[in-house]
Amino acid sequence: MFNNYSFTAAERFTRYVQVDTQSDPLSNTHPTSEKQKDLSRILVEELKAMGVEDAQMDEYGYVYATLPSNTDKQVPVICFCAHVDTAPDASGTGVKPVLHKNYQGQDITFADDKNLVLRKKDFPYMERLIGHDIITANGATLLGSDDKAGVAEIMDAANFLITHPEVKHGTIKLLFTPDEEVGRGTAKVDMQKLGADFGYTLDGGEAGSLEDETFSADGVQVVINGVITHPGYAKNKMVNAMKIAADVLSSLPKNELSPETTEGKQGFIHPVRVEGIAEKCTIDFIIRDFVTDGLKVKEDTLLNVVKKVMENYPTASFDFNVQEQYRNMKEVLDQHPQVVEYAKEAIQRSGLKLKMESIRGGTDGSKLSYMGLPCPNLFAGEQAIHSKLEFISIQDMNKAVETIVHLITVWEEKAEGVTTSIP
Ligand SMILES: [Zn+2]
Repeated sequence: MFNNYSFTAAERFTRYVQVDTQSDPLSNTHPTSEKQKDLSRILVEELKAMGVEDAQMDEYGYVYATLPSNTDKQVPVICFCAHVDTAPDASGTGVKPVLHKNYQGQDITFADDKNLVLRKKDFPYMERLIGHDIITANGATLLGSDDKAGVAEIMDAANFLITHPEVKHGTIKLLFTPDEEVGRGTAKVDMQKLGADFGYTLDGGEAGSLEDETFSADGVQVVINGVITHPGYAKNKMVNAMKIAADVLSSLPKNELSPETTEGKQGFIHPVRVEGIAEKCTIDFIIRDFVTDGLKVKEDTLLNVVKKVMENYPTASFDFNVQEQYRNMKEVLDQHPQVVEYAKEAIQRSGLKLKMESIRGGTDGSKLSYMGLPCPNLFAGEQAIHSKLEFISIQDMNKAVETIVHLITVWEEKAEGVTTSIP
């Protein structure tokens, strides 16, 4: 299918990464930084030039576009989504992409930072990229493959479909979002306007990987109310809330249930912030588990720790408040098994070895899944993300484009034909 096609993903990618789109965690506006719209505008222009007539950016910087169906079959509307912003962890200003053609397994050095070295021993995936063409930044900035790789791949897949009308597909929606890196990527998304049945984010790592599982997440706030008196006359009266908080923290399990002692499918209880005075002290926790019911078990463990400590301070009191944050997308995806099944098939049709992965965190897809758009995460090829060592293989990007096109084809093939009424 791709024999005579010259892929445009790398060429697009190289242009997109030079547009500074860093999001701002300290901002309360949507988008959190206006400059994200600079890339969104370019995407709209390019889509229009391709012939995607309804491409548009809204006031929040979201780009919506439709590739109309070219089949008689009734195919569910499928959305492909990527985020335009880059992480606040490293500068995204003045990104200079560098091409390392036909990589031969050597360590990679950076012109603008002699101390920075991308070593194969630190990133074993580089072994798989021998013979590939790799793109890095020049040492001064991150590259922005997270997630401009996804953006470029979706754009190239759109270009492929438009230039190959013989490839049949249902209605395809494209969605480019701002602010994913600051956790607000879905804050202003208009699901009605999007009008899709199922979706895929293109924001994963190695070629062939597919993520259909995230943590389920709650926040817990423990508020400790001490007993306050004048410190000069406090004997047998004062109970210092800060000291109780310290007691609670030191009573947490030491060898289990924390981020620093868990991996794989294990969840944790993690204190993220303490604030207070002698009178009142607040501890914020995040609770994580792959099983939503497992959150309650961890919350009960935490509650018992707090209760046990409080027994030593009978005149003090506490509040324990649980707040839902996000849920494991797998619980939604399991109700629509075809979404993941078709993605697996598409990866295999692209000649790749499938690698199923779980994310020890959340994605925009986990939020979208619970907003009515079941949405696993497909690989985009991005590596060493959020750092100046970031790298990506052009061949991996092209495989992602192939996978998108195969996936669109699989949905069309599996769809029911039109029911024509008998005269
Ligand atoms: Zn990302």
